[in-house]
Amino acid sequence: MNSEEEGYNVNFDLERLTSALEIVLEPKFYKVCEGCDSILFKKTIICPSCKSYRFNESEGYIINTATELAFEEKKSVIQDDLY
Ligand SMILES: [Zn+2]
Repeated sequence: MNSEEEGYNVNFDLERLTSALEIVLEPKFYKVCEGCDSILFKKTIICPSCKSYRFNESEGYIINTATELAFEEKKSVIQDDLY
């Protein structure tokens, strides 16, 4: 039997990489929540994840956060701890 397989196990999430790339290319449309480091659209008023209304709008910081999110493992933030 021919059991040769060309099975690549792609471990990174292509969708995540794509959206990170969009953010890196145009950080001016985004901002980072200071409560939970989520990247949100600039028009967002209150963070949907942690209900924070403080954001970091520095483009360098947004790019950094997007890059980190693209390559790091899914982190599990336990938001219920805030209350
Ligand atoms: Zn947040």
